[in-house]
Amino acid sequence: MRPEPALPGKGLLTVVIAGRPNVGKSTLFNRLVGRRQALVADTPGVTRDRKEGEAVLRGRLVRLIDTAGLEEAAPDTLFGRMRASSEMAVVEADVVLFCIDARTGITPADEHFANWLRKQNRKVLLVANKAEGKAGAASAMEAFSLGLGTPIAVSAEHGEGIADLMSEVADALPPPTEAEMLAEDTHSPRRRSRKTAKPVEEEPSLSFAALTGPDEPEEDAVPEEFADEAVFIEDETAAPGRLRIAFVGRPNAGKSTLLNRVLGEERMITGPEPGLTRDSVAVMVSDEHGEVQVVDTAGLRRKARIDEKLEKMSTSATIEALKMAEVVVLVVDAVLGLHEQDLQIARLVEREGRGCVLVLNKWDAVEDRVATRKAIYDRLEISLTQMRGLEVVAFSAKTGAGVQKLLPAVRRTAEIWNSRVPTGELNRWFDSALERHPPPLVSGRRLKLRYITQVKSRPPTFVIFGTRAELLPEDYRRYLVNGLRESFGLTGVPVRLQFRGTK
Ligand code: GDP
Ligand code: GDP
Repeated sequence: MRPEPALPGKGLLTVVIAGRPNVGKSTLFNRLVGRRQALVADTPGVTRDRKEGEAVLRGRLVRLIDTAGLEEAAPDTLFGRMRASSEMAVVEADVVLFCIDARTGITPADEHFANWLRKQNRKVLLVANKAEGKAGAASAMEAFSLGLGTPIAVSAEHGEGIADLMSEVADALPPPTEAEMLAEDTHSPRRRSRKTAKPVEEEPSLSFAALTGPDEPEEDAVPEEFADEAVFIEDETAAPGRLRIAFVGRPNAGKSTLLNRVLGEERMITGPEPGLTRDSVAVMVSDEHGEVQVVDTAGLRRKARIDEKLEKMSTSATIEALKMAEVVVLVVDAVLGLHEQDLQIARLVEREGRGCVLVLNKWDAVEDRVATRKAIYDRLEISLTQMRGLEVVAFSAKTGAGVQKLLPAVRRTAEIWNSRVPTGELNRWFDSALERHPPPLVSGRRLKLRYITQVKSRPPTFVIFGTRAELLPEDYRRYLVNGLRESFGLTGVPVRLQFRGTK
């Protein structure tokens, strides 16, 4: 039986990180709670800084405790300090992550602590940290001798082995109690309601991220049966920091003119920036809201112009630019109107999963602006449904009139591209969408769609679970995608919707 927890957070599943100083406990803690702020709870009478984070692991709320800060509190031998620092926490632990340093190997303090830990009747996972690359393989093996089972080799600093560790933790947790299974909402201590999707970065809740899916906020607890698949995957390519965009379009649309216009006195990067190829450069452009990086594949374009006929669009340069950018600015010559090639580029943007902003350039030279705009909107409505609602900005790169509208439109699109819709809201929408329009019969039987979750952003990607969900006809899929777009404001970005059948 678990003793009555002595500390706040009672009743929660608890994972405690323990081990001697400097093995990487804090680093592991930070890694496990992801980018989310670690919560530092002052627990009077116990210790000064007890670091706690919360996480949702396979749909269950878990409290994560880092004992690193506790060490100095207890003067004594090293083992005495380790023990004092961990004792209180270990008492409450459902799982203890006992960390060793795979580089230095097992020390006497580790052995003492392991002996003590074995007597505490807690579930212990042995974590051999600092084992990046092949480093520490030997002492990881040596750690078998601690009698705490198979060491799990990880590198907290480099993020290696973390996913494996997390699923071991999930396996080691006690099975859900009946009460837990009945009360689906109990692990939603900080319910929030939100009308619109928010960028992932702004999600304020804590999570046991790395493993299951970062960013699984408490309110988004996933039903157990879908837990293995309904996991939010963080995009590893998500470059922190600056938003990266590209100007693409047919020859003579005004891309170079636009680049020069927004350039001003900004910096040009030709160096070995990640993601840049030999034939591309990146340029910082900015306005009062900050900087944006424009990648330019001018080198590729120039080569294409020599090799190919001038009129021919260089597809390789376009694709190259798309790959490097998060949001693509499609520049069209408004005097000529939307050309089939422009739509082709837009479809490429969609295929590559990028956000898109449409620029109607040469607006100074357009005679009937109202008619031009209408013609373009009509064409988009009919021929570009996969990018419904994309932002259209009209300006003149040559005179500069209206160009200041570009970056705000780009930022709004990037925000949508990065956004995540909370699972609770998503399923409330889903229920009403199904009610309004029940799924069709397929060979005489109604398909049962049961649950929806967003598994990725950049671009927003959703999975629907249900019996034979994969048999849903295309028009019903479109109905759901359009509903998602409208209800959560997912405009100007691709929306991916996948189906998973359940038995
Ligand atoms: P704690 O005292 O156990 O909380 O250890 P810290 O998390 O403060 O880490 C101690 C030192 O080990 C720091 O310098 C970390 O950067 C380093 N460290 C943590 N994890 C790793 C790892 O996976 N590999 C390597 N090489 N160093 C690590
Ligand atoms: P790119 O091939 O897309 O890089 O196009 P350029 O920037 O080289 O522009 C092609 C031609 O269109 C040049 O003669 C530009 O001066 C002209 N141009 C570019 N932007 C504008 C604009 O806003 N208004 C007008 N009237 N002409 C423009």
